[in-house]
Parts: sequence; C-alpha cells; structure tokens
Amino acid sequence: MKPRQNLVPPRDEILHTMERIYRYRMTTTSGGNISIRDDHGDTWITPARIDKGNLRRTDIACVHADGSVDGPHRPSSEFPFHRAIYDARSDIRGIVHAHPVALVAFSISRQLPNTHLFHQARHVCGEVGFAKYALPGSEQLGYNIAKAFAQGFHCVILENHGVVVGGDNLQNAFQRFETLEFTAKTIIKAGHLGQVQYLNDAQLAIPRRAVAPLPTFPAGPATSHEKELRRELCEFVRRGYQQRLLISTEGSFSSRLDANSFLITPYQADRFAIEAEDLVLVRAGTGESNKIPSRAARMHQAIYDRHPEIRAIANAYPVNATAFSVTGAALDTRTIPESYIFLRDVQRIPYGLQFQDGEEIARRVSPRQPIALLENDGVLVCGTSVLDAFDRLEVLESTAEALINSRPLGPVAPMGNDVIAELNRAFLGE
Ligand SMILES: [Zn+2]
Repeated sequence: MKPRQNLVPPRDEILHTMERIYRYRMTTTSGGNISIRDDHGDTWITPARIDKGNLRRTDIACVHADGSVDGPHRPSSEFPFHRAIYDARSDIRGIVHAHPVALVAFSISRQLPNTHLFHQARHVCGEVGFAKYALPGSEQLGYNIAKAFAQGFHCVILENHGVVVGGDNLQNAFQRFETLEFTAKTIIKAGHLGQVQYLNDAQLAIPRRAVAPLPTFPAGPATSHEKELRRELCEFVRRGYQQRLLISTEGSFSSRLDANSFLITPYQADRFAIEAEDLVLVRAGTGESNKIPSRAARMHQAIYDRHPEIRAIANAYPVNATAFSVTGAALDTRTIPESYIFLRDVQRIPYGLQFQDGEEIARRVSPRQPIALLENDGVLVCGTSVLDAFDRLEVLESTAEALINSRPLGPVAPMGNDVIAELNRAFLGE
C-alpha cells in the first residue's frame, strides 16, 4: 500500500471501492455493502437502499461503538454481520460483501471455489469458508458468518446469497474479493473446456522459494524517452485493468527502453492505481534502488536479451484465455484470419518454468511464436511495441472467448492448411 493512501478518509475509501465494484460489474446496484472499522472502534458502512451508481461520500454512515449513527441514512441492513465479523476478528478492518455472478454460482450450487487454481489466488485469498443460509439482516446470519471467520477464513461463501471477504484494511479485502471472483470465473469458463487442473502443495510452494530479488543500482534522472515510455506503459496497464486483462493482484507489463534496459510494473502494487513513477527501471539485470520489480522481471530480462526485436512483454490474466491455461485444451488459433495472423501457434509452457531464471521461456518464445499459455498462470504475450503486445493480448482473449462460446454450438471448423498457407504468404512473408 502506498503511504499516502493511509490518509484517505474512510468515506472516500468506501466510495471509491464501491464504485470500482459496481463499474466492473461485480455487484448489482442494490446488492453489496462495504465497511471499515477504524482505530476508535467506529464502523463506516454503505447506507441501506441507495443507488450504488450514484453514491456520494456523505451517504456513508458511521456507526459508533455505542450504536449511535452519524449520517443522513440508516446503515446497510447487513450491518449486523459486519459487526459480528469485527467482534470475532480484531485483525479485520475492512469488509466487502457482494453478489458477483461467478461466486453466486458457487453459492447456489453449494460449492467452494478452489483457490489452488493459481499460486496467487491461494496466496491472496487462502482457503475459502462457508456460512449456512439465514435471513438477510438477521442476527443469525451474523452468527453463521462470524463462525466461519472465527475459524480463520478471510473469504466466506454465503449459502444461497453471495460472498463476504475481510482484510486488514479495505484495499486488502477488495483485492481478495476481486481475486476470488476471477478465480471462480476462470473455473466456470474452464469447465466448458474439460477437466480443470489444480496445483498441488509442492507446486504452490515453488514461487515462495523462487528467485532472489534483483541487485539494485541508483537510477539517475530519467531521459525524455524514459518519461514518455513510463507514461505510455502506465496508460496500457490501466487500460488492461479496465478491459479485464489484468486484475488488481495479477499481471505484469514491461517495455524495452534501450538495448540493455526496460521498464516493468512493480511487485504487488494494485494494477489499477499504478503511476508512472511506480514503474521500475531494470538495467542489465539490476533494478532501480528503493523499488521492487515484478517477480517476472528475470523472465522478461531473458526474453529481451535473447530477442532484440521484442520491445514489450505482458503477463496477463484475461479470463477466457486463462481458462485454457488451467485445462489441457489446446487454443487453436485457426479460427479467423485475424486470430491466426496476430497469434500464430499458441504454445503451452509447463507450470514452474516462469519462476526459474527465464532462459527456458526465452528459448521457447520468439517474434514468430509470441504467445504462450503459462499452465495455471495466465498468458505471456510479446510484441514489437506496447501497443502491439496489447493488441495481441486483446485478440488472444477474443479468440479464446469465441472458442468457449462455440462449445454449445458444436465442433469448430478450423481454417484448412491451404487457407493457412495463403495467409502465411499474404501477411507473414512465408
Ligand atoms: Zn447480500
């Protein structure tokens, strides 16, 4: 968390978080409520029955420890379960409750999304708990939910209702919520493709003991070119977030600055809020001091070293393409000319290689093979510019979505060898 964000008042933090949840369609306008418990024991919470699309900071209610309320509206009707969670768990200071469609699908089929799908989901969300149904707003519902939180869960599916997620601050709770909904969506999408593969404990442990941080160097003043590139890369990271190609806790993006340096997104920063100065300059295997580059930095370095034509690289998590990465299903790009021309043949990279020094992955990708599915870890896309990599990423996701959407319609008829040969001659100079 950036130090300055500690200065955001609870009303604004709740407002911004609710806007984000609503804008990215993780709740309906009437569903969902958010709260913060502060150091004085006051609980700040969204009001009852207010349009989530038009929430103002003054609408947020403050409930004092003695039960008295500040603000023009009554607190959310779900305030009892927020209070029950805070009473059960003093480490929890922020709560998100909503009815996002993928987690509701789990809730109504009485299943829990398995966070062993991704190392990051397991790391961010932990295991998921379950609370039995009770009437919304009732003390019984509060009791059922608090019981699950008391067992140590941060994320709890509510039977025939939705999900509640807690964190040591609201941002942390939001990131868990978004990561869990993404995981649930991926499991559902992947179910259309075949058997979903989960990571075992040994695989989940790999990233934790992986590569040491890069040695650092003191960076001098940025050149105009570097400033431009920082701005451009930042814009595309935010756009990637808005287009749901990255989520707050997953995804890294880099771009080459010159022959032996590149800029990359920082480790563990909210991808939605990245600023130009947060990007980390990496030069000849060393990182700018006082910043921590993405864990993917070594892999990106190896790819840039090996392929001078590659100028931008993204590790991304668009849900449809990621669904292919968690099943054995092949992503056949011979669907429409655009897909084949932009993506060529999409390869699959075994889980674990991304946490090594990157040399093996650098050998496998090239300008001729710019896309890879990383097993249970999203996709890797290379391009000749930031725009080129972004464009390929969007084509990849559209192709994956069309393939998944075609499943109920029947078998796909791929373009034949003669059509591919003609495209190779016309567009790819082969
Ligand atoms: Zn609800």
